[in-house]
Amino acid sequence: METKLKNSMINEWRGFKGRPFLISGPCSAETEEQVMETATQLAQLSEVSVFRAGIWKPRTRPNSFEGVGTEGLKWLRRVKQETGLLVGTEVANEKHVYEALKYGIDMLWIGARTSVNPFTVQEISDALNGVDVMVLVKNPINPDLELWIGAIERIAKAGITRLGAIHRGFSAFEKTTYRNQPNWQLPIELRRRIPDLPIICDPSHIAGAREYLHEISQKAMDLNFDGLMIESHINPARALSDSAQQLTPNDLKELLSRLILRSPVASDPKLLDVLGELRQQIDVFDDHILDIIEQRMRIAETIGKYKKENNITILQSTRWDEIIKKVMIRGQSKGLSKEVIDAIFKAIHQESINHQMKIMNNGIDKEK
Ligand code: PEP
Ligand code: MN
Repeated sequence: METKLKNSMINEWRGFKGRPFLISGPCSAETEEQVMETATQLAQLSEVSVFRAGIWKPRTRPNSFEGVGTEGLKWLRRVKQETGLLVGTEVANEKHVYEALKYGIDMLWIGARTSVNPFTVQEISDALNGVDVMVLVKNPINPDLELWIGAIERIAKAGITRLGAIHRGFSAFEKTTYRNQPNWQLPIELRRRIPDLPIICDPSHIAGAREYLHEISQKAMDLNFDGLMIESHINPARALSDSAQQLTPNDLKELLSRLILRSPVASDPKLLDVLGELRQQIDVFDDHILDIIEQRMRIAETIGKYKKENNITILQSTRWDEIIKKVMIRGQSKGLSKEVIDAIFKAIHQESINHQMKIMNNGIDKEK
């Protein structure tokens, strides 16, 4: 189902300076000097629209730095007055909302640990009822699109029209290169479900380390995201939270200069011709893929019939091991990544099992 929002387009938002809509600032406000110095340097980058800083920090373990609290809101107000940047912070309950609004904060975001909880999101929505402020909803820490959409809908119900989503990746049990898994298919599906909702990528919390920020930012731009939220600190090594992923304003400038912004639509007719032809070829191959999968399922069904007649279980793990080993080698020699081979063949294998199950339980012969 598609969700319809009364949302205003991001290019009409106050402070919008062009794509990417850029939000930057430290993970946490630590001292007045750190906030002012970072903001002054960021204000010199023409791309930055909003200065961010966490005031109340959700930390995984107790006894970590938990933010400076309301005191920091005064520093953000000073940033706004002295640099002209809009300012934003994270809110995790109704008290945070009231405090932030009292200090004229322009943008509020709901963190990943909050958007998982419909009670809290509803409490925040109630506190925002009738208020005109920008609100961004981060994805929940688990890859649950419905929960993310639910949180967005709750905030929309408060009458917020400058509403957007932040993609900050999803936590996983396995150790991966990035701190949080991007699972790009989720924001892509979010765009399909709510086409008018601006989506901002947060490469900092996906990456967890400075070295990956550029590649993630570039990918977000290539996927036509509307903006970026990138953490920046005047002295990342001494940051009290998320030290490994923050960039100096200078390094942010350098990252931005290397970003290639491509247009979502081609306007040159010659280019459109070429693209049209290539897309037709893609359609032909997609049809082939479906035909081949269908043929594979027919064979799986025949095998299912034999298994049924001879009372053999559907799943024979040694055979599956053999298949996955073989396709891994062949697939990689064709330049496909391990992850993609694994995902495709797991899905095909599951579909074969489903087809065989149907035969085992209903019997194709009986249906005839
Ligand atoms: C943050 O933006 O500093 C933050 C705490 O983010 P998240 O909710 O994505 O972890
Ligand atoms: Mn952070």
